[in-house]
Amino acid sequence: IHPRARALLDGLNEAQHAAVTTTEGPVLVLAGAGTGKTRVLTTRLAYILLAGKAQPKNILAVTFTNKAAREMRERVAGMTGQSPEGWWLGTFHALGARMLRTHAERLGLERNFTILDTDDQLRLLKQLMQAEAVDEKKWPARAVMGAIQRWKDRGLTPDHVSDADAGDLAGGRGIDLYRQYQQRLLTLNACDFGDLLLHPLTLFRDNPNILETYQRKFQYILVDEYQDTNVAQYLLVRLLGQVNENVCCVGDDDQAIYSWRGAEVDNIVRFTDYYPNARVIRLEENYRSTDTILGAAGGLIANNEGRMGKTLFSAGGEGEVVRVRGVWDSDAEARFVGEEIEKLHADGHSLGEMAVLVRTGAQARTFEERFITIGLPYRVVGGPRFYERQEIRDALAYLRIIQSPDDDLAFERIVNVPKRGLGKKAMQTLHETARARGISLFRAAGELIKTQELRPQPRRAFASLLEQFRQWKELSQELDHVELTKRVLDESGYTEMWQQDKSAEAPGRLENLKELTNAMQDFESLAAFLEHVGLVMDASQDDGGEQVTVMTLHSAKGLEFDTVFLAGWEEGLFPNQRAMDEHGQKGLEEERRLAYVGLTRARKRAIISFCANRRMYGSWNAAIPSRFVDELPKGYVTVESEPGLYGGGSTNQPFGSDFWESGPSRATPGMLRAQQRTGQSARFVEGTVEVVETGGGSGFSRGDRVFHRKFGYGTVRAAEGERLSIAFDQSGEKKVMASFVVAADQ
Ligand code: ATP
Ligand code: MG
Repeated sequence: IHPRARALLDGLNEAQHAAVTTTEGPVLVLAGAGTGKTRVLTTRLAYILLAGKAQPKNILAVTFTNKAAREMRERVAGMTGQSPEGWWLGTFHALGARMLRTHAERLGLERNFTILDTDDQLRLLKQLMQAEAVDEKKWPARAVMGAIQRWKDRGLTPDHVSDADAGDLAGGRGIDLYRQYQQRLLTLNACDFGDLLLHPLTLFRDNPNILETYQRKFQYILVDEYQDTNVAQYLLVRLLGQVNENVCCVGDDDQAIYSWRGAEVDNIVRFTDYYPNARVIRLEENYRSTDTILGAAGGLIANNEGRMGKTLFSAGGEGEVVRVRGVWDSDAEARFVGEEIEKLHADGHSLGEMAVLVRTGAQARTFEERFITIGLPYRVVGGPRFYERQEIRDALAYLRIIQSPDDDLAFERIVNVPKRGLGKKAMQTLHETARARGISLFRAAGELIKTQELRPQPRRAFASLLEQFRQWKELSQELDHVELTKRVLDESGYTEMWQQDKSAEAPGRLENLKELTNAMQDFESLAAFLEHVGLVMDASQDDGGEQVTVMTLHSAKGLEFDTVFLAGWEEGLFPNQRAMDEHGQKGLEEERRLAYVGLTRARKRAIISFCANRRMYGSWNAAIPSRFVDELPKGYVTVESEPGLYGGGSTNQPFGSDFWESGPSRATPGMLRAQQRTGQSARFVEGTVEVVETGGGSGFSRGDRVFHRKFGYGTVRAAEGERLSIAFDQSGEKKVMASFVVAADQ
C-alpha cells in the first residue's frame, strides 16, 4: 500500500478506519452528528485513489450541495496531490445532467438542452391546462406542478403513475397532463430539475447496454447525507452499483430534514434490505461538540419515535452549559445576539466561527438590520439578503412607484408582475414613447392609453394598472403605510400570485412579505421606510474579512461552528405550525430533527433564544416558548430571561419579575403552553402562578386606560376576546393580546 494512503488512516478511530478501508462490498455508515461521516467519505475517496484501486473517472461521489462538492474536491486533491479534473463528484442533479448531455439523443433531446426554471415550467403547464380546459380555480397550475415534481422524485414517468395515485388531480387529467408536459419539454429541447434524475433512470431502463457501461465504469460509489435522498436517487444508486456492489452510503436518520422535497429516510432501510450482506458501520465518537451540547441534543431527539438508535459520546469535555434566553421581542433578540457576539469577539473569538441559525428566512431580517446598525460584518448564506430578495424587491417597487411614479426601474420591474398580458411589443412601444418624448415610462403609459397605438389588450392592461396606482396614491393620504402596503400587495394580485405558487419556495416568500410589513411598522411613514431600505441596501457587505454567518437551519446541514445561536424557539415558529398542520406528528418529528441538526452544528457553545412577543401578520402576538425548550434535558441547560422581562420592578405588571430564573418549581414553558391550550392564561404575580380563565374575554372594554410595557399608555378601542385594539398615546393604534397589558389609572 502507498505510504501516503497509510498516512491517511492515521488519526482515524477503529470504526472510521473500517469505513475507509472496507472498500469492497456494500457499506452503510449509520452514525450521529459530528462523528466524521463526511470525513470518512472524503478519506475513503482519497484512499481508493492512493491505493491505486481505481482511477478518478471510475468513482462516483455524491454530495448534498454544490458547495460540499467543492470542499470535498479540494480536500481529496490536497490529500492525493491529484488534479480533480473530470472527477464524478457533485450533487445528484449535477451528475445526472452530465450523463444526460452525453446521451441526450436517446431521450429525444439535443446535447445543448436547457434546464427550465420554475417560472418557465409553470407557464408551460398553464398553457397545456388551458388547452385542456382544466378548471384553474379548482386545480391551480402550481398544485399540478407540485404533483408532477413529487412523481419525478419517486422516479415515476407518466407510464408509471397509477390512476389511484393521480386521483382526481386536475379533474382526473393529471397523468395526461404530465405526459403532455413531458412531450412539450422535449419539443423545446428542455428539462426541468426533476428530469435530471428521471431521464437517467429512463435512459438506463431502455438501454441496458448504456447502463452496463456505467455499471462497469463506476467501480466505487460514495454517497453523503444518504438520509435525505429521494426514491429516484435511491434507484440511481442501486442501478449503478449493481455490478460492482461497492456502494458506500453515509447518513444519520436523526438528521432527515428534507421529506418536504420528497426525501425518504426509509432509503436507509431499503439499502440493507437490498444488500443483506451490507456491512453496517456505526461511528460513536463525536469529534465536534462538547459533552454538554451532545447531551442537550441527545435528550431532545430522544422525544422522537421510531429512531434507529445510536450511541454518541464525545471526548470534547464538559464545556459550557447551553443557554436558553427569553427576551421581549425579535428586536430584543437581535440586540441580545449582537451583544453576545461582540463580547465573544472582544474575547478573541473569530466572527467566522459564529453562526445565527433561524427556522425561516424571514427571521434573518431583524438580525441583518441589527448587525448593520452595530457595524458587525455578516453574510447571509443560502439566499440573498432580505431586501435583495425577489419578492421584497417587487413589493418595494410598487411602493416606490406610489411615492415617485417616475421611478422607471421600479415600474419596469413590476409592470408585468403578476402577469398582465403585456408582451414584448407593448413594452417596446412604451419605451419608444418614453424616449421620444423624454418622459418616464409611467407617464408614457399614461399618454399611450389615450391613443390607438397599442392593441386593445395591452392598452387596457396599462390603463387599469395606472388607475390602480392613482387609487393607491390617494389611499396613501389616509391609510397608514403598513395598511397601504397590504392593500397594494392584495389588490395588485401580487400576494395571490405566490399563494397560487405550489413550489417549495412560495411559502417562504409569503412569509417574507409579511415580514416586510412587520419591518415597516418601525417607521413613521412610507418615505422614511424607503429611505431606510436605501441605506441598508447600500451597506456594503463583503470586505473580505471575517463575518458572522446568518442562515436557515436547513442550509446549515453538514457544517460546524464554535458558537451557534439558535433563534426564535417559539411554538408556531419552531416547531413550525405549517409543518405540524400539514404533516401532524411526522411534521413535528421532522421539526425536532431540525432542532437536533441546529444544536449539533455547535462545537463549543449553543445559545438558544425565544421571544415573549412576536409580530406576525402585522400585529403583536404573545409567543409561547417552543416545546423543544422543555425537552432539553435539565442539567445541560440554563434558562434565563432578559432583565425586566415580564415585569421587572413595577408591581402592576402582569408577570412577576424574573420568573424564568426561578426554575421549574414555579413556571416552566410547558406550564404556559398547557394553559394556553386549555384557554387559560397564566399571570405571574410576585413569583406565584395564578391561572386566570380567559375563555370569556379579556375583562377590558372600550374606553379602558391600559399600560403596555413596550407601547406605554393607551386607550382600548375595541376588545374581541383576548385581542385588543388599543390607541397608544405615543405609538398609535395597535392590536395586542390582553395578557400583555395592565389596567392603568391615568
Ligand atoms: P454531520 O452529521 O453533521 O454531517 P459528520 O458525521 O459528517 O457530521 P464530520 O463533519 O465529518 O462529521 O466531522 C465532524 C468534525 O470532527 C470535523 O471537524 C472533523 O474534521 C472532525 N473529525 C472527524 N473524525 C476525526 C478524527 N478521527 N480525529 C479528529 N477529528 C475528527
Ligand atoms: Mg457530514
